[in-house]
Amino acid sequence: MIDPFGRSVSYLRVSVTDRCDLRCVYCMAEDMSFLPKSDVLSLEELERLVAAFVRKGVRRIRLTGGEPLVRRNIMTLITNIGALVQAGAMDELTLTTNGTQLAKYADGLAQAGIRRINVSLDTLDPEKFAMVTRWGKLDQVVDGIMAAKQAGLAIKINTVALKGVNDHEYDHLVEWCGTHGFDLCLIETMPMGEVHSDRMEQYLPLSQIRHGLAQHWTLTETDYRTGGPARYMMVAETGRRIGFITPMTHNFCESCNRVRVTCTGTLYMCLGQEDAVDLRGPLRASEGDDVLERAIDDAIAKKPKGHDFIIERGAVPAVGRHMSVTGG
Ligand code: SAM
Ligand code: SF4
Repeated sequence: MIDPFGRSVSYLRVSVTDRCDLRCVYCMAEDMSFLPKSDVLSLEELERLVAAFVRKGVRRIRLTGGEPLVRRNIMTLITNIGALVQAGAMDELTLTTNGTQLAKYADGLAQAGIRRINVSLDTLDPEKFAMVTRWGKLDQVVDGIMAAKQAGLAIKINTVALKGVNDHEYDHLVEWCGTHGFDLCLIETMPMGEVHSDRMEQYLPLSQIRHGLAQHWTLTETDYRTGGPARYMMVAETGRRIGFITPMTHNFCESCNRVRVTCTGTLYMCLGQEDAVDLRGPLRASEGDDVLERAIDDAIAKKPKGHDFIIERGAVPAVGRHMSVTGG
């Protein structure tokens, strides 16, 4: 699949549910209303959708949410997509999770052929963790992360940089990740969805954090890419990588290779734009996949050039939907 700007689309993010067992302050409002079940694609429909994208040339898939591991029977979908990797039809299946269910699922994920996962963890302080997630228990997540490590999964910790919350913790996080053999990726907050707090209060530019880290760690540029927007550096002292995702200060759209589909089958061609195409209608229109595949082609032909996120005091969110709709 080649979009109008010559970019090859080979990466699909699939949000398998809009629900979550946490309510991170920058991601969701406390009183989120979730979708009625009938709007959400069944696991069988999600699998058909994924298979169509794989036939179209998608080589890598990341499952996300909401929290993917709270969707009932999710291991069935994971095992079936994993089988596509094992058959050589695609290169990789990965997962982004908040880690709360990892103790239960880590072995199953490894058996399904998942090799690496991203776990979101913004702080190593139990009180701050409970505050950021509105009720999460840090121990549960750390136990899950250790279970995943034990199961042989490579782990990348995703940390959203939050002013007044984790700004004194980056050195500790670099050290903790180094000790356990995890990569770390810092993310700037993006203005997505109303969350009842002022994002200007939370926003921290990563250039500032990188400067601070460079006082204590030897950071060297690498050309390592995972196909995502992160720019990576090596931390000489730990031998691990640290990534920086800076949508607000660096435009990464020119190398964008991805599209995102929600759990209702809406395809977003860009994280930062409203342009979307419904694939649930075509999916449910017939048992064959011709209509669906045509709808996918039409959508890719409309992929926008890039996003235009701006964070300003009092500004309305750049896109109205929450991050949990498309899963980041
Ligand atoms: N529940 C899973 C998790 O937390 O990893 C997967 C979905 S979550 C929406 C995916 C990622 O998006 C997480 O790393 C989260 O921190 C990040 N995220 C959510 N809202 C964000 C925002 N407004 N700006 C930047 N990152 C955000
Ligand atoms: Fe849930 Fe992930 Fe959003 Fe936090 S970031 S509320 S864990 S979906």
